[in-house]
Amino acid sequence: MDIRTFTGGGFGENAYLVVCEESKVAVAIDPGGGASDLARDIVRDELSLQAILLTHAHLDHIEGVSDVRAVAPEAPIWLHRADFGMYQALPRQAAMFGLTAEAQPTPTHELEHGQRYEFGTCAFDVRFTPGHAPGHVMFVTADQSVAISGDVVFMGSIGRTDLPGGDLATLMKSIREQVLTLPDETVLYSGHGPPTTVGHERVGNPFLVPHYGGELA
Ligand SMILES: [Zn+2]
Ligand SMILES: [Zn+2]
Repeated sequence: MDIRTFTGGGFGENAYLVVCEESKVAVAIDPGGGASDLARDIVRDELSLQAILLTHAHLDHIEGVSDVRAVAPEAPIWLHRADFGMYQALPRQAAMFGLTAEAQPTPTHELEHGQRYEFGTCAFDVRFTPGHAPGHVMFVTADQSVAISGDVVFMGSIGRTDLPGGDLATLMKSIREQVLTLPDETVLYSGHGPPTTVGHERVGNPFLVPHYGGELA
């Protein structure tokens, strides 16, 4: 599996193009400000884009959906139902930040906790991780070596919970039950900043470690 990162936009959001190498089948995850570069890779490498998968519907993670659709017009768009309303309210989200944003193509499929999403010979298991956003999910490879984790945990930090639908206690429960239950070696590719590992955050993340006043572990 080849994971390519495309960072862009005013929030420095990471979009991921995940290519299942044998088949050249790919999925685009959270196409944000860097999505036009991601779309260029799809065309240049003649990849078959099977879907657009969304961890959640915040502005910075969805503002490039139409850029991907421009090169893959039939690609289904997957999102958890609890974030559909926020997705449709994209122009209002942008206004909160003093920005403007065009409405994006409507999601076509619902993601659910426990679902296995297969592409080529690769697969992701969907884990429901609300708290930062009400319909947030993570995508974990079948062997649990990699998680595309959105805005749940970052290197040394956690997702903000002050936006509409956010809740700190819910986020902490998601981290405890869905992130810290993964092996220490699992690499977390998050929505902002560099990749990290579950083990690194388990012992060093100040929001998670009691020694530093964190709530977990
Ligand atoms: Zn977010
Ligand atoms: Zn984000």
